Amino acid sequence: MSTHAETDHCCSDGPGRPRLLSVEEARSAILDAARPPLAAPQWVGCEQALARVLAEDIRAPIDVPPHENSAMDGYALRFEDLGADRDRRLRITQRIAAGEPPRPLEPETAARIFTGAPLPPGADTVVMQEDCAVEGDWLVLREPPRRGSHIRPQGNDIARGSLVLSAGTRLDPRYLGVLASLGLARVAVRPLTRIALLTTGTELAAPGTPLAPGQIYNSNGPLLTALLQGQGCEVCNRGVVLDSLEATRAALAEAAEAADLVITTGGVSVGEEDHVKSALESLGSLDLWRVRMKPGKPLAFGRLGEAHFVGLPGNPVSAYVTALLFVLPLLRRLQGRAGPDFPDCDYARLSRDWAEARARREFLRVRLNREAGELPWAEAYERQGSDVLTGAAWAEGLIEIPESSNLKRGTALRYWSFERLLS
Ligand code: AMP
Ligand code: MG
Repeated sequence: MSTHAETDHCCSDGPGRPRLLSVEEARSAILDAARPPLAAPQWVGCEQALARVLAEDIRAPIDVPPHENSAMDGYALRFEDLGADRDRRLRITQRIAAGEPPRPLEPETAARIFTGAPLPPGADTVVMQEDCAVEGDWLVLREPPRRGSHIRPQGNDIARGSLVLSAGTRLDPRYLGVLASLGLARVAVRPLTRIALLTTGTELAAPGTPLAPGQIYNSNGPLLTALLQGQGCEVCNRGVVLDSLEATRAALAEAAEAADLVITTGGVSVGEEDHVKSALESLGSLDLWRVRMKPGKPLAFGRLGEAHFVGLPGNPVSAYVTALLFVLPLLRRLQGRAGPDFPDCDYARLSRDWAEARARREFLRVRLNREAGELPWAEAYERQGSDVLTGAAWAEGLIEIPESSNLKRGTALRYWSFERLLS
């Protein structure tokens, strides 16, 4: 692709300037170019499997629960022993706690039973203790029970042999609980995506060190490391790269050696101190550059040897938003995840008029105010600058202001919660 060589005045960044890609064009170009690494699955203990992607379907090796059991603390009995006389008394002949094997239920008797305890053979009904009285060894029913009440059948949750989780599922705590209920201690997962992360900027200081005059702390490094680790990636944070072509070239060449994906932040615009684009062009290939959006116009995508390359903008909010909109879908492809590459949106209403007509689509950091039965109102953070990272920390998600819009308060707009984007 060489889209940035074309000119198109309606969508360009100014007369004679190259056409910028729309968000969708950029995302499809990235997804089309994604080449999942060819690597064998790994077996890992389930305790280490959070956020990993299943390499194989999981079929249930057993029924869950493995035995019929009581859903209540109460008494197990045989319904037909009650006959027409539903308030009859039954002698209590055994006590079954969870984890204990029961004896068969003798005719015309009842068993004291607790939640989760296996039903004694012969019993078919449990009455909850609140509905009975006990007089010595005798159970007296206050309420006539329904046949079969308060029993959890064997396989109630999962039937042996059924498909429980599909290959491509990313493991979250719920899925790990389900695997444990099946007795599985290890799972086959896709290899971790190896990411080399470089933050460019001579002005950057590492948190924990003193700031020299003119320096700022590197917030993109920790932000993106955490974000990517949460997505089942092994992040090699290669630290700060000084703003020179030589340093940038050397850092990129080294980073690409053992990574599936190289990510940089900063230095990807057109200033004299921006060297990422030239370094990439000289070492690998640049497939797209610049997207018609705000925050985050400068965004580079290409290849560096065997590795994919994404150059994110330097401003922290831009880096975060473009990581959510472009890097996460790319990761889904690289990890072979099931489901859509990009999540569906919700809708929310603009809480003020939006008069500015802009050539770039905007993603505002917003919180939702919900009213019963209505689309929620999206309240934008007061400062929407791409340097205002506390706005992203304050917000719940992003609302999309379409290009060239002149919108009235109450207009329904597309909305993505951060939670949804990160799921
Ligand atoms: P750049 O894209 O390199 O021109 O950077 C744009 C803005 O983002 C500048 O104000 C930079 O100082 C700032 N910036 C770049 N990288 C980082 C970073 N890792 N952490 C915090 N701010 C950054
Ligand atoms: Mg810079």
